[in-house]
Amino acid sequence: MKKSDLSCPVCHAGYRRIELTSRPGIKGEYRCLMCDVVLETFDGSTNVAIRLTVQPEKTFETPIKPV
Ligand SMILES: [Zn+2]
Repeated sequence: MKKSDLSCPVCHAGYRRIELTSRPGIKGEYRCLMCDVVLETFDGSTNVAIRLTVQPEKTFETPIKPV
């Protein structure tokens, strides 16, 4: 089992990546839950699980309004 961390290059959300090299996985791709950019593509040779660990700061959704 291989563990590593990765982060989205676009919104900087943090992810934990766990790869089970002993078993086959599913072909496909993993997209960022926040901004939908493709973080990784899988060829199905190993079983990869990716979980969101750090949500990005949503600064763009909280504009500063003058009172
Ligand atoms: Zn993202």
